[in-house]
Amino acid sequence: MQFEEAHRIKNLPPYLFARIEKLIEEKRKAGVDIISLGIGDPDKPTPKHIIEELQQQAENPANHQYPSSVGMPAYRKAVAGWYQSRFGVELDPATEVVSLIGSKEGIGHISWCYLNQGDTVLVPDPGYPVYAGGAILAGAEPYYMPLYPEKGFLPDLAAIPTEVARRAKMMFINYPNNPTGAVAGEEFFNEVISFAREYNILVCHDAAYSEMSYDGYMPPSFLQFPGAKDVGIEFHSVSKTYNMTGWRIGWAAGHPGVVEALGRLKSNLDSGQFQAVQYAAIKGLTGPQDVVEQMRKVYQERRDILVDALNDMGWKLEKPRATFYVWAPVPAGHTSESFAELVLDKAGVVITPGTGYGKNGEGFFRIALTVEKHRLVEALERMKKNIGTVKF
Ligand SMILES: *Cc1c(COP(=O)(O)O)cnc(C)c1O
Repeated sequence: MQFEEAHRIKNLPPYLFARIEKLIEEKRKAGVDIISLGIGDPDKPTPKHIIEELQQQAENPANHQYPSSVGMPAYRKAVAGWYQSRFGVELDPATEVVSLIGSKEGIGHISWCYLNQGDTVLVPDPGYPVYAGGAILAGAEPYYMPLYPEKGFLPDLAAIPTEVARRAKMMFINYPNNPTGAVAGEEFFNEVISFAREYNILVCHDAAYSEMSYDGYMPPSFLQFPGAKDVGIEFHSVSKTYNMTGWRIGWAAGHPGVVEALGRLKSNLDSGQFQAVQYAAIKGLTGPQDVVEQMRKVYQERRDILVDALNDMGWKLEKPRATFYVWAPVPAGHTSESFAELVLDKAGVVITPGTGYGKNGEGFFRIALTVEKHRLVEALERMKKNIGTVKF
């Protein structure tokens, strides 16, 4: 039998990596040692004290039953405590924090709480695909805010047509930014807050990379700026901070009405995250933070190796101050896809074509710093040897 898919799933953007994945498969079959710089997933293990907490809590039968869909009070309290110590932000754990099964879950679901069929939502392009994906599944229409290098990859709010701004119900932003590695400061966040007030727009800030920063720079939280809690929420998780992407635990924090609505939606769809995992995340947030500093050092060293090597080949890149990505233009005469194919073909190295993150990703590629140093060095040596100097 054949089943007609619903419009909402048919309307999802097409999967862009099909062609390059076929090429990777062919290369692998031919025995090529492929080095993937494509995947943004920490390669180091979760710190031991966090794993041990999971092991202990898994033994406790009290944790074997259904958890609450909004998270244990102790978990929400740990999140609030972390915001206080890291950003000086006050949060009421009972009303201003909700647990998520990874922040991706909440980013996908928030659209169901605030968007009706045909509603407009402001989405960065390039951007993490879940912002548009969740909105499209909810029947809404993304209006893409282009991120340009000359604007520091920040959306130009003044360039959004007034009728679009009036119509828009929600806006997604993400700093430190995946895929561009850009960061945002006080001026930008204040501008977002006044724009949101003027047009009655719910701001959803994704702060997944706030702890992955370099050269002593510490990114701010959206919630630390005056009025932020009135206009929005922040998504975050332990995934990138503590190498816990597989554990699936995050949160949304901020505007109490929005936090409550998201919790209400979740209580109709899921039953929260395993309490033992919540305890493990508490351990991460409240335990020793030197593990995070060690990861910053690891990524910073890889970042320096990568950017220096690319600049040796002809690029003129600045070192990103945060995230574990380097976002770089493709050489003259190439599209994102043709350059990714060339690098794969000549060097056996996987890089991500920028178009995977939206139309405005054309002309760029993304490299993730989530491989061991010796593999990164080898990938760069192969690129240098087989591609050589590039021109723009
Ligand atoms: C990795 C990532 C997340 C985190 O997702 P989790 O579901 O919390 O693991 C969120 N936003 C962006 C932009 C990311 O790259």
